[in-house]
Amino acid sequence: AKYTWVEKDTCIACGACGATAPDIFDYDDEGLAEVIYENDRNCGVTAIPDDLFDDLQDSCDGCPTDSIKIADEPFNKEG
Ligand code: SF4
Repeated sequence: AKYTWVEKDTCIACGACGATAPDIFDYDDEGLAEVIYENDRNCGVTAIPDDLFDDLQDSCDGCPTDSIKIADEPFNKEG
């Protein structure tokens, strides 16, 4: 399984990731990206299914500030 989490401190609200992977990323009131898959609330604890891996990797590769983190283990962040 893969897990993902957005480092909001470095996100510049460019809007790329949500366009690339709308099932995984959406934006908060300030336009900063966050993981919304299955109501993850940007905790990075929700396993991303195989069929979304390509979208996930494309989003990560396309983020201009490397704010999208991917790991094999849950991030266990607080949003
Ligand atoms: Fe933020 Fe990166 Fe997504 Fe742009 S692609 S909104 S910088 S996380």
